[in-house]
Amino acid sequence: MAISANKVVKIGLVGLGKIAVDQHIPALRGNPGFELVAGCSPNARPDGIPAYPSMEAMLAAHPEIEALAICTPPQVRHRIAKDALATGRHVFLEKPPGATLGEAEVLRSFAAEKGVTLLASWHSRFAPAVSLTRAWIAQRKLKSMHIVWKENVRQWHPGQAWIFAPGGMGVFDPGINALSILTAVVGDAVIVKKADLHIPVNCDAPIAVEMEMTTAQGVPVRADFDFLQENLQTWSIFAEAEDGGKLSLGMGGAILEIDGQPVMKEAEREYPGLYAHFHELIASGASDADFAPLRIVADAFMLGKRIAAPEYIE
Ligand code: NAP
Repeated sequence: MAISANKVVKIGLVGLGKIAVDQHIPALRGNPGFELVAGCSPNARPDGIPAYPSMEAMLAAHPEIEALAICTPPQVRHRIAKDALATGRHVFLEKPPGATLGEAEVLRSFAAEKGVTLLASWHSRFAPAVSLTRAWIAQRKLKSMHIVWKENVRQWHPGQAWIFAPGGMGVFDPGINALSILTAVVGDAVIVKKADLHIPVNCDAPIAVEMEMTTAQGVPVRADFDFLQENLQTWSIFAEAEDGGKLSLGMGGAILEIDGQPVMKEAEREYPGLYAHFHELIASGASDADFAPLRIVADAFMLGKRIAAPEYIE
């Protein structure tokens, strides 16, 4: 059901960990279209927000909440999101939208059945240089693409045991951000041809992945994901056109170079963009639930070769 574009939507956060504190709370406080009412989390109690141990306790105390952002690890997201939709609330899903494709698809149908908004968010698609990249690619015949997404899990995910547990996706947790940009700039019809999944002997999810894909036009796309990158962190996508043109998207989509020349370098504002989008969706009674990046990860797990990697000790 559509609402006025000026309406203030009362929202609650589920899962008060790193991303809720670093991004969701500041983005909501900076958006006059939302009022952040409360949050819930089993243990975390960040300053300045009324917090409850569970979503049920939060909604009992604040029945006025109209929308919920689910910022938990992926393994528990489905049950929480299903319960939230069942109460008729609009739902913002952190990425990935589920631990499996089936979970995500059930949520999409259930949101439609309940007549509420579902946003399966892909924050990297809101990086400043993604739309210029899409436009550059649309005007050319591509020869190849290369994704290099390498970060230090110990630096960015301290204490997050869920990331190497079943359903945690390991290095695909950041890697899926690159895949969300890829599918935004070349389209959804990306096919996984080969994937080498390096899984530490004491973990259930990969710490490094080398993957070969093709686009609908048959353009080869290579991806190198690594979770043990020390010093310089790399979140880059390179594209080469048949006419010799070269594009380099750096810092997760904040920096763009074309033919070696700087074209854009902007501070990232991904979460303000995401929440503006969520408000527009609620106002227009629409949903945005595209699972193409999750499908590529699922295909990599189906097709991929498992290679034992050394034990991972945090
Ligand atoms: P995190 O720091 O481990 O935070 C997750 C939070 O969820 C924890 O505070 C945890 O609770 C809470 N939680 C667990 N089970 C819950 C439940 N049943 N009900 C309510 N809360 C529950 O992880 P994160 O880094 O914020 O990541 C969360 C999600 O955001 C992941 O899907 C990740 O891919 C995505 N994300 C993360 C980043 C990033 O840079 N970290 C960036 C973009 C997206 P307690 O602490 O209270 O025990």
